[in-house]
Amino acid sequence: MSEPESDDLPTTEEEWRERLTDEEYHVLRERGTEPKFSGEYLDQKADGTYVCGACGAALFDAETKFDSGCGWPSFYDAVEGNVEREVDTRHGMRRIEVTCANCGGHLGHVFEDGPEPTGERYCINSAALDFDTEE
Ligand SMILES: [Zn+2]
Repeated sequence: MSEPESDDLPTTEEEWRERLTDEEYHVLRERGTEPKFSGEYLDQKADGTYVCGACGAALFDAETKFDSGCGWPSFYDAVEGNVEREVDTRHGMRRIEVTCANCGGHLGHVFEDGPEPTGERYCINSAALDFDTEE
């Protein structure tokens, strides 16, 4: 499941393909979306940190995960500075895409209908994440 963390990021799409599974590649590198209610982390409640499935950067603390009912793992906050936002107008919608600040991998989108204290809902593909359990 989890790839070893490495500072040596691939420089070509060919190297990314070797490093990632087909599903991870589709989400992280082709900005794909996994099917609703299919992701392995959807119902996970354990303590720990969700990290980038491509580069291992810490992205979301399990404490900020909540059950949004949207079909993808949802968080109300991200690890500061490790997630970038970009306007995404694909599919006839205006959404805010979130990507890994370290490797540029696509993670999902952020919406303004989340719970307190941020009021935000990060809707993230399981395939874009790995999970580090708190020891
Ligand atoms: Zn990354």
